[in-house]
Order: sequence, then C-alpha cells, then structure tokens
Amino acid sequence: MRKLIGKELAEAIRTQTAAEVAAGPRPRLAVVVATGDEASLWYVRSIAKAAAGVGIAADIVDLGPAARPEQIRESLVRLSADTGVHGLMLQTPLPPGASAQELAGAIDPRKDVDGASPLSLGRLAAGLPAFVPATAAAVMALLDHHGVELAGRRAVVVGRSAVVGKPLAHLLLDRHATVTVCHSRTRDLASVTATADVLVAAVGRAGLIGAGHVAPGAVVVDVGTNPTGDGGLTGDVDAAAVSARAGALTPVPGGVGPVTTALLLRHTARAANLP
Ligand code: NAP
Repeated sequence: MRKLIGKELAEAIRTQTAAEVAAGPRPRLAVVVATGDEASLWYVRSIAKAAAGVGIAADIVDLGPAARPEQIRESLVRLSADTGVHGLMLQTPLPPGASAQELAGAIDPRKDVDGASPLSLGRLAAGLPAFVPATAAAVMALLDHHGVELAGRRAVVVGRSAVVGKPLAHLLLDRHATVTVCHSRTRDLASVTATADVLVAAVGRAGLIGAGHVAPGAVVVDVGTNPTGDGGLTGDVDAAAVSARAGALTPVPGGVGPVTTALLLRHTARAANLP
C-alpha cells in the first residue's frame, strides 16, 4: 500500500509562496480566535509560525472564550475593512451561541483565505473563482501530487460540513468524478463507502472507517484529526486494518494537515496580490 505523504508537497507550496511573497508587498493574515480550546490555540500558533517562515505577517486576534457573537462580528467587519489586512479567518470552535457559518458572512470574500464565507461556497458551487477552504483544497492537491486519477471514477466523501465535505464534493465533481456524500444519517455506511475508488473521511471519529468500509485497492484520504490520550493525533481511518486492503492511504498526522496550512499561506499571498 502506498502512503500519500503531505510533507514534500507542503514544502514545495511553501517555497513557491515564499517566492511570490518576496516579489510583492508583505501580506498580512489576521486570525480571529474566541476559544480556550488548547488544540485550536496550538493550531493557530502553528499557522502564525508557518506564516512567518514564508514572510507573511500573522496577527492572532484573541477575543477570549467569553466573546459574544456581536463582538466577533464587529471584529470581522473591522478587519475586512482594514486595507492593511489581506487574509482573514475565523478559527473554530466558537463560544456557545456563536455560529461560524453565520459569522463568516462578515468576512470580505476577497480576504476569505479559508473559504468560510457562504459567498465563497456559493461561488464554488456555481463554478466561479473563489477561495476554497484550505482543507478541501489540500485533499485535491494531495491527490494530484500523487497522480490519482479522478475523471470518471467513483468518489465517496464521508462528512458534509461547509468547510470540508461540501466544498470537496464540488471540487471532485469539477474534476469529473462521480460523487456520493455520506453523513450521520447514511444507512449502512460501509456498503456505500465500499463502492469508492477514492474514499475521503472527514468526520472527526477515530477509527470510524475500517477494512470493511474500503474496496480492495481504493485510494483513502483521511482528513480526520482526533486527539489521542497521549497528546497525539489519529485519523478517522483505522490505518492498521485499512492498510491491508487499500491501494493508498494518507497518514495522520503528516498527510492532509501540512498541505492545509501551506495552502492557507498560498491563499493569503494570492489575496494580497488581487487586483
Ligand atoms: P464537522 O463539522 O463536525 O462535520 C462532521 C461530519 O461528519 C458531519 O457531516 C456529520 O454528519 C458526519 N458524521 C458524524 N458522525 C458520522 C458517522 N457516524 N457516520 C457518517 N458521518 C458522520 O467536522 P469538520 O469540521 O468537517 O471536520 C471533520 C474532521 O476533519 C475533524 O476531525 C476535523 O478535526 C478534521 N479537520 C482536519 C483538517 C486538516 O487540516 N487535516 C482541517 C479541518 C478539519 P451530519 O452532517 O449528519 O451531522
């Protein structure tokens, strides 16, 4: 079984982005945070560090876990209007009562580097140019990098969130795959996923996808990031069981994750250069 590793591709994207950044004005990314969730705060700090590595300035705008939805909205509106900010994202989770989907509507689509605004998703669905959520874009980039053919093949996406499953379904459709989207109400999940040439798991449940969910030789992409007891991460795919059956599998960590961060930086550099 082939391991579809993301490190090399992520490095290539960062190198290319650093060159783009060096050729123009310094891009600035603002990340609005309103959580005490340690994993989420760690992720945001890792974005800021990676940004610095390619010459992008990153501001973490921490409103604290008690922030009210109106405060978060005001912050997004202010940063959207700030001509010194080129990329803007809202980190989840948010405090109870705050909806990421609703609040993301306050992000200027031209700065929406993580494709969170409903306008960005609508434009993607309509086949118009838009920023695509970095995770969904990372899955496609990883498949392309490893030479996985999509046209005419059967793709099954497990998960229908607005940030991963739905945009991914559109991206796969654009590449002429035949796409099925599964979710928590799908009956007999394994019978659907076992029809996939390309199977993507984006759920957030460790080990949900076992050997019985996978067709022999299938390409399996594991988007899930589930914390383990020892401070590590594990995916939605039971890698040990699936390895014996799949043709290829992305590792967690080290698969989709590094490419996601690299693409977020690429999107920020591109946002800074929009006419
Ligand atoms: P989410 O908003 O919680 O969505 C999860 C989806 O999984 C929902 O559509 C849900 O169905 C579906 N689901 C839940 N239980 C299921 C089951 N038993 N069988 C089939 N489907 C089920 O999560 P998300 O934001 O899309 O993230 C998904 C995973 O990706 C998480 O582990 C997250 O940490 C990870 N992630 C990774 C990256 C990266 O860079 N690697 C980036 C973003 C997210 P319903 O719609 O019916 O509820």
